[in-house]
Amino acid sequence: MPRLALFDAAEDAHDQVVVIDAAGSYTYADLLDHSRRVATALLDGSDDLSERRIAFLVTPGFDYVAVQWGIWQAGGVAVPLGLKHPRPELAYTIDDADVSAVVVEPELKDRVAAITTSKSLPLLATDDFPERAVNERLPAIEAFRRAMILYTSGSTGKPKGVVTTHANIQAQIDALVEAWEWQRTDKILHVLPMHHIHGIINVLGCAMRVAATCEFLPTFEPVRVWERFAVGDLTLFMAVPTIYVKLIAAFENASSQLQTRWSNGAGKMRLMVSGSAALPIPTLEKWEAITGNRLLERYGMTEIGMGLSNPLHGERRAGHVGAPLPSVEARRTNEAGEIVDDAAPGEIEIRGPSVFQEYWNRPEATAKSFRDGWFRTGDIAVVDDGAYRILGRSSVDIIKTGGYKVSALEIEDVLRTHSAIRDCAVVGIEDAEWGERVALCAVCDEAESIALDELRDWAKERLASYKVPTLLHVCDELPRNAMSKVQKPRVRELFQ
Ligand code: AMP
Repeated sequence: MPRLALFDAAEDAHDQVVVIDAAGSYTYADLLDHSRRVATALLDGSDDLSERRIAFLVTPGFDYVAVQWGIWQAGGVAVPLGLKHPRPELAYTIDDADVSAVVVEPELKDRVAAITTSKSLPLLATDDFPERAVNERLPAIEAFRRAMILYTSGSTGKPKGVVTTHANIQAQIDALVEAWEWQRTDKILHVLPMHHIHGIINVLGCAMRVAATCEFLPTFEPVRVWERFAVGDLTLFMAVPTIYVKLIAAFENASSQLQTRWSNGAGKMRLMVSGSAALPIPTLEKWEAITGNRLLERYGMTEIGMGLSNPLHGERRAGHVGAPLPSVEARRTNEAGEIVDDAAPGEIEIRGPSVFQEYWNRPEATAKSFRDGWFRTGDIAVVDDGAYRILGRSSVDIIKTGGYKVSALEIEDVLRTHSAIRDCAVVGIEDAEWGERVALCAVCDEAESIALDELRDWAKERLASYKVPTLLHVCDELPRNAMSKVQKPRVRELFQ
């Protein structure tokens, strides 16, 4: 039977430790055995899930990986749910992806039980799988089949499901394994969310591909991360700029004795990577001064995997995201679709096997996002001596906060349902820690007023916490142009 390339290394490394999490450590043999039990349970007597979508809400760790591999081995499409997402967002994803079943860890059952009951969907608990039998005759999975749907916000309202095939995932992983020279001896600390490409592909996927070890921390706590660095046995670390900013702050607050231990440990790592948002140059420089490690900045997107990267060997240029990764073709175009010179700002377009297949059930959005077979990223860049430098995005309605991409329009739609808000505009405001903060400019109904704390509590029940505004400005009227369109640059000025 055709075997997914992701499983090759595991088959040859049975005794190697694959995952370390809060509950213990697990070998690749454990993972293969457990994931086959998951697959058998999901199949429930059928031969193949035939790309049915299986959503799962599981804390990053061994069970997460076993469920992901189980879904794939059963021929299903994995739809990871965000641990921080409130019920309406979980329900939206489950609905939009038209899932056939939901897998949940016992402690999180309450979060999804009402949704699965209302939709009459099977709800499977992860503690049930160890008791299940193993079916040795799992379906053959061709690489062109759909494998995963990740939800990502765009500039047009509700999040869209980005569909990748097994071949796309393999290409995304292989490009990084080659460029960053992943080895079986690597050991990476995982602190990223597992419903986003960064944690799923760059960290877990690459580790699994080469039979390296992935150690999960359940939550990101700066001091715990530093203490883990201090042990000195990790070889790799990958994070968003906000995490590096928080680690630097914790370092600066620590005693000089601790600082020495921490920086010695971090300095032993062979590679530390930053991405998912622009890395401020002061952060790069401070990190290098503290650890001796110069961060490697790369650029990528849910739809394309990683596209551009500074080199593993050679100069990592501050403020630049490097050159195309193996198998990735990149070009830059103007609004007319013409290729522009290096010095002229142009939209990055990407082509290659790592580029996603489609937005789930949105053929029009898919068609619109490609030009002559090239995916249009919406990111504007110039090229300095072969290295790309990102200047910004073509849409003001996409905000990058803490490495998460969020849609201003989606947030506005939800906030407009608040009883005190008559109209509103959401913008991103530059911030040293978060990259951008989500800022709300609101027009309130007469006699009503809103306080930020109260509004945040209200919004957190409807939106993932990272989408909830942290800045509020109340005004009488939103700045609009003659066509009555809200002028977002002028809204931004209100926060200066
Ligand atoms: P996501 O799909 O959530 O990973 O978000 C992708 C977007 O993040 C890209 O389209 C860029 O706008 C932004 N991004 C990712 N990496 C970088 C980087 N190194 N510098 C600047 N922006 C980045």
